Amino acid sequence: MSQVKVPEGRWSWVEIDRGALRRNLRAYKSLLAPRQKLCCVVKADAYGHGAIECARVLHSAGADMFAVATVHEGVELREAGIQAPILILSEPPITAIPQLIEKNIMPTVYTIEFALAYGECAVRAGTVGKYHLAIETGMNRIGVHYADVLEFCRNINFHRGIQCDGVFTHFATAEDVAGWDYKLQCKRFEEAVRALEDAGFDCGTVHCDNTPATMLDPSTHYDMVRVGIGLYGLYPCDSSRSVVKLDPVMSVRARVTRTAHPAMGEGVSYGYTYRVPRTAVQICTLPIGYADGLSRTLSNRMEVLYRGERVRQVGNICMDQCMVAIQQTPIHQIPEAEYGDVMTIIGRDGDAEISADEMARLRGTINYEVVCDFGMRLDKVYL
Ligand SMILES: *Cc1c(COP(=O)(O)O)cnc(C)c1O
Repeated sequence: MSQVKVPEGRWSWVEIDRGALRRNLRAYKSLLAPRQKLCCVVKADAYGHGAIECARVLHSAGADMFAVATVHEGVELREAGIQAPILILSEPPITAIPQLIEKNIMPTVYTIEFALAYGECAVRAGTVGKYHLAIETGMNRIGVHYADVLEFCRNINFHRGIQCDGVFTHFATAEDVAGWDYKLQCKRFEEAVRALEDAGFDCGTVHCDNTPATMLDPSTHYDMVRVGIGLYGLYPCDSSRSVVKLDPVMSVRARVTRTAHPAMGEGVSYGYTYRVPRTAVQICTLPIGYADGLSRTLSNRMEVLYRGERVRQVGNICMDQCMVAIQQTPIHQIPEAEYGDVMTIIGRDGDAEISADEMARLRGTINYEVVCDFGMRLDKVYL
């Protein structure tokens, strides 16, 4: 626990286990046929894990493509020297097109205006702009409606400045691959792709699976799958737990910056939502707060790990700090903490563990949001 190199400026940090990231990638590769590609979704700074460092690890471990959400995220990867194909998962503003061409970043396309402007810019630059066509099959978020794809492609296909590198859709309910909603999306996608192919249109790489669909339904792997949350060692749903064993990549830790023994009845933190009880407690301060991703809604409801045991967080979580109470009871004695002792907010300590899933349940959200939030400000330490 204490062997980790702690960042100098502040005693709280996110640990990223590169070995776990590599193992998770291999676990997904093992679900695919050799010709099927793995697109690693590293949007939102790799779900808070650090996109550049994660992309480096994933690329060396066999990632075929990277997917991001914004032009900025794609440019960041290119400027860090990532050479693999990069796909933006939605259609960027037309004003971003010169940057896409310059950095060789593929946009998702679903408007004729964008497609033609992209083609014009590519021709001027003496190149061909590759893109992926998004098909709307039921998520009702982005893409060309499944019934309109053939007409859409006929409208843009004449342009010699663009080339379709892939065709994809995105599932709304992939946690339930037995359900009608999922099956309907599959059917619409399959029919749209077939219509394009029958018309002689080269679809390039056909893909639709996110993490849950990749794990639960091999029949929709097509040419490539797009895996995000699973790479970071988190399960998208309980039914996926038995498919492959994943190792969580992120841990969150902090060192105690102050200890005190306020008298009985003293309040702790803003609003005094916690008061020191009759039994003596040691109040320990940790330099992590809601601006670091530790949601204020967890105040007085969460626990952290200290010496392999659970201790309660007390008082309102502040922007940059929070407090925990070490409380002795007649039946359970915990050694008091000292300045500099490490506490674990997410991760393992001895036999104990606090998972992103546990925190998500407490917050009333999903593990995706928990890890994204911890990416906000904390220093990252790559193991
Ligand atoms: C975010 C995203 C993914 C990855 O989803 P996970 O559930 O994290 O695997 C895949 N495809 C699209 C279009 C996305 O927006």
